[in-house]
Amino acid sequence: MSEVVNVAELFGKNVFNETVMRERLPKSVFKKLKKTIEDGAVLDASIADVVSHAMKDWAIERGATHYTHWFQPLTGITAEKHDSFISAPTPEGKVIMEFSGKELVKGEPDASSFPSGGLRATFEARGYTAWDCTSPAFLREDAIGVTLCIPTAFCSYTGEALDKKTPLLRSMEAVDEQALRILRLFGNTSSKRVTPSVGAEQEYFLVDHEKYLQRKDLIYAGRTLFGAMPPKGQELEDHYFGSIRERIAAYMKEVNEELWKLGVPAKTQHNEVAPAQHELAPIYEQANVAVDHNQLVMETLKKVAGRHGLNCLLHEKPFAGVNGSGKHNNWSLTTDDGINLLNPGETPHENIQFLLVLSCILKAVDRHADLLRESAADVGNDHRLGANEAPPAIISIFIGEQLEDVVDQLCSTGEATRSKAGGTLKTGVRTLPDLFKDATDRNRTSPFAFTGNKFEFRMVGSSDSISSPNVVLNTIAAEAFKESADVLEKAADFDTAVHDMIKEQLAAHRRIIFNGNGYSQAWVDEAERRGLPNLKSMVEAIPALTTDASVKMFEEFKVFTKAELESRVEIEYEAYSKAINIEARAMIDMAGKQIIPAAVKYASLLADSLGKVKAACPAADTSVQEELLIEVSAYLSDMKVALAALSDADAKCTAIEGNKERAKAFRDEVVPVMAALRDPADKLEMIVDKEFWPMPSYGDLIFEV
Ligand code: ADP
Ligand code: MG
Repeated sequence: MSEVVNVAELFGKNVFNETVMRERLPKSVFKKLKKTIEDGAVLDASIADVVSHAMKDWAIERGATHYTHWFQPLTGITAEKHDSFISAPTPEGKVIMEFSGKELVKGEPDASSFPSGGLRATFEARGYTAWDCTSPAFLREDAIGVTLCIPTAFCSYTGEALDKKTPLLRSMEAVDEQALRILRLFGNTSSKRVTPSVGAEQEYFLVDHEKYLQRKDLIYAGRTLFGAMPPKGQELEDHYFGSIRERIAAYMKEVNEELWKLGVPAKTQHNEVAPAQHELAPIYEQANVAVDHNQLVMETLKKVAGRHGLNCLLHEKPFAGVNGSGKHNNWSLTTDDGINLLNPGETPHENIQFLLVLSCILKAVDRHADLLRESAADVGNDHRLGANEAPPAIISIFIGEQLEDVVDQLCSTGEATRSKAGGTLKTGVRTLPDLFKDATDRNRTSPFAFTGNKFEFRMVGSSDSISSPNVVLNTIAAEAFKESADVLEKAADFDTAVHDMIKEQLAAHRRIIFNGNGYSQAWVDEAERRGLPNLKSMVEAIPALTTDASVKMFEEFKVFTKAELESRVEIEYEAYSKAINIEARAMIDMAGKQIIPAAVKYASLLADSLGKVKAACPAADTSVQEELLIEVSAYLSDMKVALAALSDADAKCTAIEGNKERAKAFRDEVVPVMAALRDPADKLEMIVDKEFWPMPSYGDLIFEV
């Protein structure tokens, strides 16, 4: 048995959290800091020195030697540069440990190598990181030792956001301001702040590290680029929620402990649908912290895997033919005094504030469906969205039976007089308790589902940051709230005005509601009739960032300037081309140096055997060897043709000027040829002697972890 863990003691052990701050900071400083963290007040720069000293002492007592500004550039992962605490040696050759307020508040990484999409010419490489005190500093323990990590925002010399955190914080301020206006209209004078709450469910795959090292595609591209299906896939659904094997269990235990130390409230874990696929969900937190924590979750999943001889694959589609991985982004709006604006209560038809909020969100999502879909676009996600596995590339909202009934009543008669109630679930067994049943069942195929008191945005890719989806959700909600508040604040008769507004918004944006099967072709056709956008690939989705409607909204709420949006467009196109280019080159390498040689070897073995058998016994039936030889040779020649075509297409596309044009060319001219090369290779894998095959098979990878 492994040692017993005291979770309460472990939790937050490595976090410079409120308890530590209260203990170590002078009262007045603590109060000021808390005001910024909790109420969003302007940070008082004069407290920085006191805070940095307390932080340093705390960190050094726990063995820290270095500190780092931890930030989230537009690569989608985190970046850091470590500095040790040591001062310049004294004449006696001694050092002291230093960490000033200035070093806490501002950093200046040499930023020229991070993507900036033209916002910053390389000769003006200055970029600054700025302390985000609303996300707590933490200690990371690993082979490097103990490092004090300070969450920071990353901006250019001219103040443009070069990261994922700055716009998120801006969008949180926008939705706070506008949501408060809505609350005030309903007589709420006590809430001081509205914050988006976010809980991200993270899916991932685990494979054996030794086998991983034998697959160049996993090493370079994070996903398999070749691979025939094993005899068994996920059809029995015996992995989903199945009991967790010892090796995986030991891994999960350590992941949880590491996360708890970092103050990440890891809560749920289970096996997912595909073999070797798992999920981890933390308890929701305010959006900014949740985004940072999701980065820590991804980092920890990878790091701990290494300690268990495993490799964690966060790619959206590591294996063709079995489910891919995503991230469900659960989102709601909560006041500082605990009111969830998305809580419908028992009788939603009477909850006017909720109905107004709901109608605003329907409007927001309908109007900016393209932008929301774009926020979930990443290269790997192109294999999932719209590919008949969770969820389609079309944005729609599932609101459930109970709310749809209320919307129906409001749209048809203008009045809603009743709400369908939950009930009791009869199990039919005397010794089992009767259960309370929700008023609404679930819908697993919807990309944006109302699940009781939150929306669950299910399109996000497993490897992606959850920042962008939350930036979009916060800002589109802020815009809809603002438009409502602008009208309602001036209304002579509030009750009538709000009633009319709800009806009007619901009627105008009802087309976005869809409660049926999102995976069906019928829905694709129906969505087209309704005029809903169906952006099938990342390349098609990117332009949504800079439509007139997006630019106007983001500028109005000061979340992005037009220049910042344009830079993100460039960065995303570039990221797409680079990723496909790497995949293409990995395929060329594997096909040319591993797969074709293996098949050639097998073919010559067949030829040898054919010759020998014929010589030894001219009457023997050698049709099997002959047919195999013909088949292998045919696939080999298909591979050779496709390999040459892929090399040509890749070289041609790489040379194209213009990020957009290049990305389009990669999608249209390289991706199809990659499929053409894979097809004969996968067929060969089914024929060639396993002994000759140069890499572990799908079966080896996903069934023998
Ligand atoms: P579901 O069964 O609907 O997937 P869970 O209870 O498993 O819901 O929660 C999924 C995620 O949603 C968790 O991270 C959870 O903390 C988060 N969550 C729950 N309530 C809220 C809320 N009000 N706002 C945001 N996230 C929430
Ligand atoms: Mg869920």
